[in-house]
Amino acid sequence: MTQKIAVLPGDGIGSEIVEQAVRVLRALNLPLEINEAPVGGTAYDLHGHPLPPATLKLAQESNAILFGAVGDWKYDKLPREHRPEQAILGLRKALGLFANLRPAILYPELANASSLKPEVVSGLDILILRELTGDIYFGSPRGIRTAPDGEYKGAREGFDTMRYAEPEIRRIAHIGFQSAQKRKGKLCSVDKANVLETSQLWRDVVIDVAKEYPDVALSHMYVDNAAMQLVRAPREFDVIVTGNLFGDILSDEAAMLTGSIGMLPSASLNASGQGLYEPSHGSAPDIAGKGIANPLATILSAAMMLRYSLNHPAQAERIEKAVQKVLQLGLRTADIYEEGTNKVGTAAMGDAVLKALG
Ligand code: NAD
Repeated sequence: MTQKIAVLPGDGIGSEIVEQAVRVLRALNLPLEINEAPVGGTAYDLHGHPLPPATLKLAQESNAILFGAVGDWKYDKLPREHRPEQAILGLRKALGLFANLRPAILYPELANASSLKPEVVSGLDILILRELTGDIYFGSPRGIRTAPDGEYKGAREGFDTMRYAEPEIRRIAHIGFQSAQKRKGKLCSVDKANVLETSQLWRDVVIDVAKEYPDVALSHMYVDNAAMQLVRAPREFDVIVTGNLFGDILSDEAAMLTGSIGMLPSASLNASGQGLYEPSHGSAPDIAGKGIANPLATILSAAMMLRYSLNHPAQAERIEKAVQKVLQLGLRTADIYEEGTNKVGTAAMGDAVLKALG
């Protein structure tokens, strides 16, 4: 059966890096229907909206979305609803993308890029699973008001509500256990159950869901400890599952363990397995159009798409092995270049991955 992919290159380096990922996808000779549409600032320039109805419709009708990046300083003065970033929020909302998967992999060849000692991080391979649609970012009530009571009565106060319903915790926990099953079988649930009621419920529900996955080793960690352990002994982790707020912070920390933003893919999934796949980095307007951007994060995002939305795990592995091979061969884009390696541009890196696919 033909599977549909919506390709949304976006702004800045988006089109350059997505082009390479699409070449790799086409080279696999799978029955894929690939359609492209504008998004972000590019879409605003063309159609007056960062997520035009036709782009949203294409995304909704596709099995998966390959997304480049959006944003450019030239759009910073637009009203919020027309800013490029609204396109991602709109897609997340419309498609119900509640599970954000961010692998942090440090290939031994790039171990020097990390600010940690190579012996601590070399070979790192962890997956941070962040709940994306709940928590304190979306809980109500929230606002800024005059405090109605308490010690600061009469003063201005800001307040937000941390909130998770059991079904929200349950569905992200299932994805956590299933992801662990596909990897090394270890799941660490991160919360702050010693202080927060929301976290206590989170922990109770995760423990309950664990009964369905006796093959996965579950552990729990407070978020402050997790932040420490990620820099002390990051290789101890396999999959980390956590809420929106803690995941926001820990996923960036884990990304920086690798030191190379141009290498990190990500996925956001909904309950039916439909997903949006994008590099973890932004649109890099400072290097757009120069042909020097690293396309590997986007190519690795395409590999995640094959694994998580299109059910082609062997092809996903084929791409990941090809990326590893080009690194072993010493090819590097400018962002990961070090002396003694071979500096190449965006298209040449794409060529090399295609060749390494075998
Ligand atoms: P950025 O990730 O775009 O760039 C940070 C630095 O990393 C820059 O020096 C850039 O040149 C470099 N870089 C990023 N990706 C690279 C790649 N593939 N190859 C080589 N070098 C790379 O972050 P920023 O500069 O803070 O943001 C730029 C724009 O991107 C802003 O408009 C921001 O809103 C947007 N942004 C979008 C997303 C997204 O689309 N999901 C995410 C983050 C930032």
